[in-house]
Amino acid sequence: MQIADDATEHLIALVRVPTEAPEQLPAFRAALEERFPQLFAALEAEWIGDTMLARWPGRGEGAPALLMAHQDVVPAPDGDGLAGAAWTHPPYSGHRDETHIWGRGTLDDKGSLVAICVAIEVLMEAGFVPARDVWLVFGHDEETMGTGAASAIAELERRGVRPAWALDEGGAIIEPPIAGVTRDVAVVGVAEKGFANVRMRVAQTGGHASTPPALPATSRLARAIRRLDFAKWPRSLPEPALRMLELLGAEAEGVQGAVLRNVRRSRPLVERILARQDETRAMLATTAVVTQLSGSAAANALAEQAVAVVNVRIALGSSVEETVAFMERAIADEAVELTVLHGHGPSPESPSNGAGWDDIVAAIARLRPDVLTVPYVMLGGTDGRHAHRITDRVYRFAPFEMTREERLTLHARDERIRIDTWLAGCRWYADLIEQSC
Ligand SMILES: [Zn+2]
Repeated sequence: MQIADDATEHLIALVRVPTEAPEQLPAFRAALEERFPQLFAALEAEWIGDTMLARWPGRGEGAPALLMAHQDVVPAPDGDGLAGAAWTHPPYSGHRDETHIWGRGTLDDKGSLVAICVAIEVLMEAGFVPARDVWLVFGHDEETMGTGAASAIAELERRGVRPAWALDEGGAIIEPPIAGVTRDVAVVGVAEKGFANVRMRVAQTGGHASTPPALPATSRLARAIRRLDFAKWPRSLPEPALRMLELLGAEAEGVQGAVLRNVRRSRPLVERILARQDETRAMLATTAVVTQLSGSAAANALAEQAVAVVNVRIALGSSVEETVAFMERAIADEAVELTVLHGHGPSPESPSNGAGWDDIVAAIARLRPDVLTVPYVMLGGTDGRHAHRITDRVYRFAPFEMTREERLTLHARDERIRIDTWLAGCRWYADLIEQSC
């Protein structure tokens, strides 16, 4: 399936419509409908709030497929005051140079959303009709942990729609992640950690700072934070992580390759190696970090309450309740009150074989025969977790090559996508739908 180079005009146009805030979404919807008239004429599209739910009717053969993406983006402060350095090209310019399209959303997640639309229109033009229904859910509040995608999924559940599999954002095609592996690796998320913001609060009678108690609320909170820092969260390498390490080990040479290949027998050693770096340590267990702190409003008054917000990423197999209970034990101080502000448990694991997985792996192999595809557990969250309500096969992958440098622009300045990989990604979605739907 050929994708014309000027398909990039769609991405550029839609990156130019900011979607940081709810009031900006109607303009994005209008731009999307204007850009893809054929798609909107042929698909049964409806809007649940600002989330798009659409069905591309198939020939009624087999369980449907569900493709997901989100319209909203994280804010893109552009170099004034506290925001830091300015973008090389303004975040909503959609600037195109020789190699890249620049702007907020190019990687996360308009790149996928627009590529899916391009793929569908190209297939329609070629006269393709899917065997099975293809459903689209384009959420509008993924970045703010909103309810858009959840509502659309609940609607599908109500209608009895049970997809064979779902695909949302998540992994990508990355450079060799460990020494000894020489080819690019496609990482496909098969599960995601849970999430919670937990407020820790110590209350105390206020007073003048000149006569402090032996253990002021602020210090008591600090002690609790340090206890939490030193807490030994139970370690677990979930099955998809073991599988990923085995597959990488099969490619890596030397001692490292041997250790990884035998990860199931050399687990303690592998865990020690993974614990050395922040990124890999997070694979091993629940993580908890204080991201917000507050005390007294006045410099010379005792805090009537000292408050910390802990951002927790919950390991597979655990739960919000278990996590809070562990925190209580680690802190061991009844004066520290814990409240879950927002939280959800980890997702179930989707199988690394069979429907959906095999389709995605085969489509990757057709696009990039040289690439190794591995499953992995996402440390962050996606709207895809809601899809577990209607299918046990939820995969998280965008078919784009991202260098480490490019990945660092996610949620940061200078977000951009390579033109060649974006066009190849459009082809990938078209190919996936053509071969598997
Ligand atoms: Zn995203």
